[in-house]
Amino acid sequence: MLLTYVGRFAPSPTGPLHAGSLVAALASWLDARAHNGQWLVRIEDVDTPRCDAKMSVLMLEQLAACGLVSDASVVYQSQRSALYQAALDTLAQKGWAYPCGCSRKEIEETQALQGHTRERHHAAVYPGTCRDGLNGKTARAWRLNVQRVMNDLKISTPLTWQDQRLGAQEQNVATEVGDFVLRRADDLWAYQLAVVVDDAAQGVTHIVRGEDLADNTARQIILQRALGLPTPSYRHTPLVLGANGEKLSKQNGAEALDLHDPLIALEQAAKVLGLPTMAPRTSLETALENWCRVWKVTTR
Ligand SMILES: [Zn+2]
Repeated sequence: MLLTYVGRFAPSPTGPLHAGSLVAALASWLDARAHNGQWLVRIEDVDTPRCDAKMSVLMLEQLAACGLVSDASVVYQSQRSALYQAALDTLAQKGWAYPCGCSRKEIEETQALQGHTRERHHAAVYPGTCRDGLNGKTARAWRLNVQRVMNDLKISTPLTWQDQRLGAQEQNVATEVGDFVLRRADDLWAYQLAVVVDDAAQGVTHIVRGEDLADNTARQIILQRALGLPTPSYRHTPLVLGANGEKLSKQNGAEALDLHDPLIALEQAAKVLGLPTMAPRTSLETALENWCRVWKVTTR
């Protein structure tokens, strides 16, 4: 059976679920339910040194307490290296991926020579040093040759796409991001490659996730095109801000959700999404049903 809607929630188990991640979980679940679709949970644990298997268990328990349960077996990225390797092999065979021998320090030095300053909050744009060969250096990472993919597939620059909430988006990946990493120098798979391979392998048609990830969309669309994979629909949800005005995250002290009363946590998440507060003593099931009805109307 071909499903017309497959959505997913894909957390990294670097800490327990917090108020910010619950917003993305709830939004993706509501969107899937509103479309009579399937909702999958995928644990993004490619960054193995930062991930903790105990946190995966805890996160799934937290989601279940909120009535959010994956419609199929939970997938773990740490078990899917063979798929990512096959994708990298495909890209390398087409001449779209190449090994890079630069250290972080070398990349920064080249940029300084070229007069680029590194902006705050922005990762360094790789200057393309190894694009035409390693020049005797040892391969450390693998990168995507962005401009070559764009040229070969006649993808116009800047890349444009439609976000279901943010509207028309565009990014010039070659100049704003550069040849991004597919396999890291520490031998771990890069987030971009793993996400694109898994979304396609799981048949994901709709991606609903936090706005902090919106910036990855253009890179992921280029990878989808390079691998001959379909591009899902994208909706990026509002973020919960911490006391310092920055996105609430494990890094700025987001607390684990208190799930003694899951409805209280869910109501906070619902509020961020512009959904109504429920009457006292509403059951979890009724609240989710009601929000789903409102979601259907308001996201049309
Ligand atoms: Zn390099």
